[in-house]
Amino acid sequence: MSLGANLGDREENLIRALQALRGGGIRLSRCSGIYETEPVGREEQPDFLNMVARITTLLPPLQLLSRLQEIEQRLGRIRHERWGARTIDLDLLCMQGLTWQDERLILPHPRLHERRFVLVPFAEIAAEYVVPGTGATVQELLQACRDQHQVRPCCSAEQVQLRMRKARA
Ligand code: ATP
Ligand code: MG
Ligand code: MG
Repeated sequence: MSLGANLGDREENLIRALQALRGGGIRLSRCSGIYETEPVGREEQPDFLNMVARITTLLPPLQLLSRLQEIEQRLGRIRHERWGARTIDLDLLCMQGLTWQDERLILPHPRLHERRFVLVPFAEIAAEYVVPGTGATVQELLQACRDQHQVRPCCSAEQVQLRMRKARA
C-alpha cells in the first residue's frame, strides 16, 4: 500500500497511520523509507511525504479498503477535491497476483506505473515483484516511468522503524 501526507505534521501523520494499521487482522511486514515529493496533478500545494508499506492480512479487498478509509477519517482527512492537499492518503497498490475492478476499488492501483512518488519507495521494498496485468517488475516500471517530478529521500527505513518503536513506547 501507498501512504502520502502534505498537511500538518506530515511525518507524524504517516507514523500514526502505520500504527493505526496494526492489529485488527493486519500485520505490517515491511516499510520503505520516507520521500519528499513534488505534488502531481494539482501543483499549487505543499510537497508530500510518501512511503510504501507491505502488509499481510486475510481481510478481503473491500474490507481492507474500508479499514484504510476509516483510518484516513480518524486521522482527520477531509475530502475537498481529488488530488488536493490532505493529512493522509492511504491507497492499495496491489494484492499479490490479484486484479480487481469495481466502483470502489481498482487493483493494481491504476496510476501506480506513472508515479515516481509511488514507484521509488515501492522498488525500495519490492523491486522484483511482478505487478499483475503488466508483466513487469516494479523496477522495470520505474525505469520506464516518464514522470519528472522530484522524489527526494528524507528518512531511511531504519529511521522509520525507530520512530515506530518510540511511538509505541
Ligand atoms: P488517486 O487514486 O489518483 O491516488 P486519491 O488517492 O487522491 O487519488 P481518493 O480521494 O483517496 O483519491 O480516493 C478516491 C476513490 O478511489 C475512493 O473513494 C476509492 O473508493 C477509490 N479507489 C479505487 N481504487 C483504489 C485503490 N486501489 N486504493 C484506494 N482507493 C481506491
Ligand atoms: Mg492517492
Ligand atoms: Mg486515495
